[in-house]
Amino acid sequence: MSGSAQCPHLDFQFNVKVARIEDDTIKQADITGKCMNCDQPLVFRCDLPMGVSWTHPTLSVDAQELRLPVLVLGDEVDEKKKRPSFSVREIR
Ligand SMILES: [Zn+2]
Repeated sequence: MSGSAQCPHLDFQFNVKVARIEDDTIKQADITGKCMNCDQPLVFRCDLPMGVSWTHPTLSVDAQELRLPVLVLGDEVDEKKKRPSFSVREIR
């Protein structure tokens, strides 16, 4: 089956990729999803900033990837450590 119009979108598959920085305890879980029948990607509908942050959740520009900072229970975060991040500001 192809095309969104004919598919009832009843079964979904999610993928979680974990990004990490060498020698750092904090990780980032990047979550995407799609309909298992027609492969249409899911779009996250939440009011989050677009970009990458190691301190708060963000979305990709197309809202198809939810990015969550995560930590293994018991690990501690070095708040002084510099980590790559960026944000995208929408201009209307
Ligand atoms: Zn579908």
